[in-house]
Amino acid sequence: MTELLYQTDSYLQEFEGVVVAVDEEQRAVVLDRTAFYPGGGGQPADQGMLLVNDARYVVSKAKKAGDDVLHFIEGDALPAVGTAVHGQINWERRYQLMRTHTALHILCGVVWRDYHASVTGGNMEPLKGRMDFEFERLKGDLVHEIEEKINIEVAAARPIRVAILPREEAFQIPDLIRTKINLLPEGITQVRTVEIEGLDLQADGGTHVANTSEVGPIRITDYKSKGGINKRIYIALDA
Ligand SMILES: [Zn+2]
Repeated sequence: MTELLYQTDSYLQEFEGVVVAVDEEQRAVVLDRTAFYPGGGGQPADQGMLLVNDARYVVSKAKKAGDDVLHFIEGDALPAVGTAVHGQINWERRYQLMRTHTALHILCGVVWRDYHASVTGGNMEPLKGRMDFEFERLKGDLVHEIEEKINIEVAAARPIRVAILPREEAFQIPDLIRTKINLLPEGITQVRTVEIEGLDLQADGGTHVANTSEVGPIRITDYKSKGGINKRIYIALDA
């Protein structure tokens, strides 16, 4: 089982860990703890490096496998079980993903608060993202208005708080119901929540910035109809 350091500290760029399992076939190692985000909720997995004495292993991605996080390594030899490693996240890329992920939550929050349109999905890459909504009346003039409103929330410098709650407690929070928390598998006993103070609260496993001001200006670059009431909004951030 890998301790997920990024869940409580999204700003952790480097960490110490120990190899607890090696998967020769997949060319991956499991660590006892990690700051590598293994992907999920529309946020891509981290890339980076594992350092062992003088050797460096490039981590091309990380992935969840049950309670473990696999770190996929490029090159020939893999570090053996018991090896102490120093992990480094590709921070420039990860921080861009944190800003992008938070920007998408700002968009969700505004669209729900002012238009009562709910999210059906989303995806992102560094500095670019898209969200799908059930949003029948979305049109060009509204897109303009939404862009103004999301940038007001960036300027409002709202703090972002992460909490890990027992399942029963999370189920008591009315705001979480709309993010389909009720679809969480039975076996999950804890729910991680991400709250943009005064704007948005979601059950979410991703990494976020600590304040909406870190996101910077958000542009809505495009929108399209996906048929029926389903609409897609595309955003982009400054580098
Ligand atoms: Zn999210």
